[in-house]
Amino acid sequence: MAGSDDWLRAMPKVELHCHLIGAMRASTWRELAHKNGIALPADPELIYANMNSRPADPAAYAHAVVSMAPDPDEVYPDPSFSLLTIYDTAARSVVTDDDFVRLGYEIAEDAARESNVRYLELFYDPTTFFPQGVSFATITDGLIEGFRAAERAYGIRSRLIAAINRAESAALARELLEIVIAERRDEILGIGLDNLETAGPPEKFAEAFAMARRAGLKRTAHTAEHDPHARNIVTCLDVLACDRLDHGYFILHDPAVVARCRDAGIHFTCSFTTSRRSWRAWRRRSIKAMHEAGLRLVLGADDPTMFPTTLAREFAIGRDKVGFSDQTLTQIALNGIDASWLDPGEKQSLRREFTREIARSRATKETV
Ligand SMILES: [Zn+2]
Repeated sequence: MAGSDDWLRAMPKVELHCHLIGAMRASTWRELAHKNGIALPADPELIYANMNSRPADPAAYAHAVVSMAPDPDEVYPDPSFSLLTIYDTAARSVVTDDDFVRLGYEIAEDAARESNVRYLELFYDPTTFFPQGVSFATITDGLIEGFRAAERAYGIRSRLIAAINRAESAALARELLEIVIAERRDEILGIGLDNLETAGPPEKFAEAFAMARRAGLKRTAHTAEHDPHARNIVTCLDVLACDRLDHGYFILHDPAVVARCRDAGIHFTCSFTTSRRSWRAWRRRSIKAMHEAGLRLVLGADDPTMFPTTLAREFAIGRDKVGFSDQTLTQIALNGIDASWLDPGEKQSLRREFTREIARSRATKETV
């Protein structure tokens, strides 16, 4: 129903799970690669349309408590463009100050225009760009400048989460933290841990997370996304002292961990859309079960241009394919404020703004 889609798109939102390179427009990637002399395996539009990471070894997931069977109605492209291979080429295409300003601006602009995002916390992994000789200041200050321009144009506020690539070494993670702390910018609110979970367990990064904690930086981590256990969630809470968690679907393997996170009010930033397309149906079933178990969920677009999706589309999937009510989706939008790393006063005023607008738009929707 078109009116209802408009209502979902217009609902004010917070985006807490979105990655820098995965949110680069295809047209921008094409232009930057050309400008910076990076050869591409195919045109970015074609790559994004066919992004499909290779299926994981089914034997490792034979005991999944939520069925991992793909949706028989969905057709998947040949998995020749996988996220982790494309990501590096895309990242190498972004080099200069102006490139980062452009990305910061466009990502915030897309979030504001497509999904009415009012507040964004964006993951960026500075170490990805270091081998090309790009400095932390070039990356960070470029993004911040782009964010400021987008705020002037659209009113969206954006902040940064410095992400540790878990496929890299613990030493590189510590090096990143040293730089983040030494060259601290107010816009960097905390740190994250991303990439393939099975490539780096959370305990490997205990020291980097302790450095972040001592420096007053908030902490989140991708967890229970690929490793078919709830154990990494416990490590993220007890060892990394995470304030919130990303994904977390395999929490359903351990009712005690579900109960603990429910009682502690831990927020999970989830996405229905993943580059591993055969897992999308499982994601929907898992997110539904997490909600029904009483966990606090936030929706994120993750890598929106690459998969492709938008945050508004994730909300629409929640309604159309998962069966979330308007009330649940409204609660998810408000959860985003609670889970954010804004200070308490900012959260309160954003909550007032969202509640007022959602009530007004519901009244309009019901009279249409
Ligand atoms: Zn992610």
